[in-house]
Amino acid sequence: MTRSIIEPFKIKVVEPLPWRTVADRERILAAAGYNLFGVRAEDVSFDFLTDSGTTAMSAAQWGAMLTAEEAYAGSRSFYRFEEVVRRITGYHHVIPTHQGRAAEHLLFSQRCQPGQLVPSNNHFDTTRANLEQNGVQAIDLVCPEGKQPTLEHPFKGNVDVPRLEAFLHEHRGHVPFVMTTVTNNTSGGQPVSLENLRAVSALCRRAGVPLLLDACRFAENAWFIKTREADQGHRTAREIAREMFDLADGCLMSAKKDGLVNIGGFIALRDGTWVPELRSGLILTEGFPTYGGLAARDLEALAVGLDEVLDERYLEYRAGSTRYVADALARANIPTVRPAGGHAVYLDARAMLPHIPPEAFPAQALAIELYRAEGIRTCEIGSVMFGRQPDGSFRPAAMELVRIAIPRRVYTQAHFDYVIEGIELAAARGPELRGVAIESEPAFLRHFTARFRPLV
Ligand SMILES: *Cc1c(COP(=O)(O)O)cnc(C)c1O
Repeated sequence: MTRSIIEPFKIKVVEPLPWRTVADRERILAAAGYNLFGVRAEDVSFDFLTDSGTTAMSAAQWGAMLTAEEAYAGSRSFYRFEEVVRRITGYHHVIPTHQGRAAEHLLFSQRCQPGQLVPSNNHFDTTRANLEQNGVQAIDLVCPEGKQPTLEHPFKGNVDVPRLEAFLHEHRGHVPFVMTTVTNNTSGGQPVSLENLRAVSALCRRAGVPLLLDACRFAENAWFIKTREADQGHRTAREIAREMFDLADGCLMSAKKDGLVNIGGFIALRDGTWVPELRSGLILTEGFPTYGGLAARDLEALAVGLDEVLDERYLEYRAGSTRYVADALARANIPTVRPAGGHAVYLDARAMLPHIPPEAFPAQALAIELYRAEGIRTCEIGSVMFGRQPDGSFRPAAMELVRIAIPRRVYTQAHFDYVIEGIELAAARGPELRGVAIESEPAFLRHFTARFRPLV
């Protein structure tokens, strides 16, 4: 008998689940211009907009926050945080920042020159934007399997190694470092195998180019290696994570994911060469090197969270609950990106709503319906987000997806059962749904503030 997935924690503090009527939500939607970013969180029952910064912290984290030492320089809380990062990553030099994109901005502005190129499996959108801001081309070299949404493959986040080899040869002298995102957020939270990381690492060492991990979900990636890769099942997630870090020269981290905190980030490096420049830059924009834009209590919560995230009962539950949602939807014939990633399940709105053309934004229409009928907030990742070209023209996105990003330790198994039922009910009404038109939009990143009108 396979046993139920259970939350590996008991609950000490609760807050009410917000509850609104369908009529309330219809009014709220109209006022927000049918843009879910304009809806207040207190009007959302199940908030799957993002897994970033939405973690429920543990009693141990809250307790550590109370004992933090708030000092401008040399706080004990910093040294505790530094010790944990050194122990987990093996990197000696630890530079705190207030979140991931601050680490990106700091590193790229100090280490990149206009005209250079930085390859990765897939760059996350803030990573790409921060590279481009510095005149650097952000190049995605994910493996071919990673581009096929319905293909079952254990490591769809892998780098295309032959293409990386050719790339490093062709652009010799113009690549300041190579990046690899673990797990690969942009392609659906898909993991990178140890075998692939070893090959990327060997290539980079031969080419004399540093390798940096975008390590936001390093623990989820380590868990997928343990459970999916040959000869890794006997190792602990902590040992695997350490080998991932050993294969690289440093990392950038948004701690709002696998740091299990609501704010925080860091850069960690094996070698000290870049550190004086980075620390000077840090002082200019983030703060003194022993707090880097965070309160000492944030560093305490992060120090505890980085160890908690490697607890294998937590990781088993985390991967299990994401897979549970994806598998239940598959049984109900609701198409999703396969296999389930670590932090999110992606509904394929193009397949669910074939009668709505890309110009009428099927994924946005589905996201609106999930909120209207069920109080579920998701995020459109389709032609609203990607369809507008720099010249203002429209080109349909490669896929029309609705992302269900799962906050860590927030919702229970019963919540997921209720949400799955809600998605099934919304899917059954699919043929009645019409698309939406854009009423107004800003010039950049329109998905955050555009206003929509339902088509009738
Ligand atoms: C979230 C994220 C970032 C950016 O981090 P923030 O803390 O949101 O600034 C960078 N890379 C990846 C892969 C991410 O998921």
